[in-house]
Amino acid sequence: MNDLRNIPFGRPWITDEERQGVLRVLDGPILTHGPQGKAFETEFGEFLGDGAHCLTVSSCMAALHLSYIHYGIGPGDEVIVPAQTHVATAHAVEWVGARPVFVDCEPESGNLAVDGIVAAITERTKAISVVHFVGIPCDMPAIMGVAEQHGLVVIEDCATAVGTRHSGKHVGLFGNVGCFSFYPVKHITTGEGGMFVTRHGDVHKSVHRLRAFGVDRTHDERTLPGMYDVPVLGLNYRMSEVQAALGRTQLSRFSDNLEQRRENFDLLKGALTDLREIHIVDNHDTDASSSYYCLVLVLDGSLRGRRNQIVGRLNAAGVGTSVYYPQPVPRMGYYKDRYNCEDAQYPNAIEISEQSFALPVGPHVNKEDIEYMVDHLHAVLAGVMQ
Ligand SMILES: *Cc1c(COP(=O)(O)O)cnc(C)c1O
Repeated sequence: MNDLRNIPFGRPWITDEERQGVLRVLDGPILTHGPQGKAFETEFGEFLGDGAHCLTVSSCMAALHLSYIHYGIGPGDEVIVPAQTHVATAHAVEWVGARPVFVDCEPESGNLAVDGIVAAITERTKAISVVHFVGIPCDMPAIMGVAEQHGLVVIEDCATAVGTRHSGKHVGLFGNVGCFSFYPVKHITTGEGGMFVTRHGDVHKSVHRLRAFGVDRTHDERTLPGMYDVPVLGLNYRMSEVQAALGRTQLSRFSDNLEQRRENFDLLKGALTDLREIHIVDNHDTDASSSYYCLVLVLDGSLRGRRNQIVGRLNAAGVGTSVYYPQPVPRMGYYKDRYNCEDAQYPNAIEISEQSFALPVGPHVNKEDIEYMVDHLHAVLAGVMQ
């Protein structure tokens, strides 16, 4: 086989344009709440379309936390959360004192099953938090139908869904709010960072205030410097100008980024169809398009239970992998201690977390890398099956 390669699972796509943008900010006088942040919000809103109002924040988890604070969700309330997600989705609910009620995913897409949501609704349910698993869109029209029928708020966790659409509309704009992540391994990065998104002007105004201590006037609105009141309890979840400059350049190259991901995903998927005892988590909804965050393979048949061995051999050959997500959230120590949920409540989430691994398809992966991954995957699986 070809010479050893090193293909990391994720690598931020940073060019001279990013470096120049960051240096320009450092050469100027404004390091936070300035023109870069505002421009990034406007440009992200234009990218999403449909009149999206955007607010830069310090992380996706910050955006989620602000959402629950804004909607006044707290002790005694329940929020429906997928079992198969990043802990941030559930942590944001815990931090306002509400209870996450974990719901299983569909095995084909890794996304919340609509009938599972309906079955979990009680008198205490106030919100549904949906996650577009590895960029595959949830059935948002159906979920919004359920939410409207029961008067529930919908919080979309779009951390891996920049570029994900359903019926032509970008995700994050179906629910009451959408929360995006710019952590380095995600589609675009600001180091740490995120975007809070809503179609509702009043929600935007309220979260704008909550994001910055609860202060009632922005710098531009103050007639005298330093004069303001604080009518609500806020946080400091702002993004700096350096990060926003980075994000703007990343966003300007996003259509290239998504196109390369789509090509890589299709090429990799096509080359794996002849593999037995494996299935690929994918988008099966013809009204929807994925953001191609990564390619998740689930082991079946005699390969079950061999995940760590397979991943170990791939990593030794220089093929980077990840697992989405290493355990269903209710099995994580904190949640296990607190709620001790039955494993039988989320068998599909357990199956994906125990039997799957993810391969990279980002713009750092080229066609030779794909061939290399495919060759090694065939060899490793053949070796393991003997
Ligand atoms: C990465 C991720 C997060 C956390 O994003 P941060 O910006 O690091 O807070 C939240 N939800 C999901 C689904 C994620 O994959």
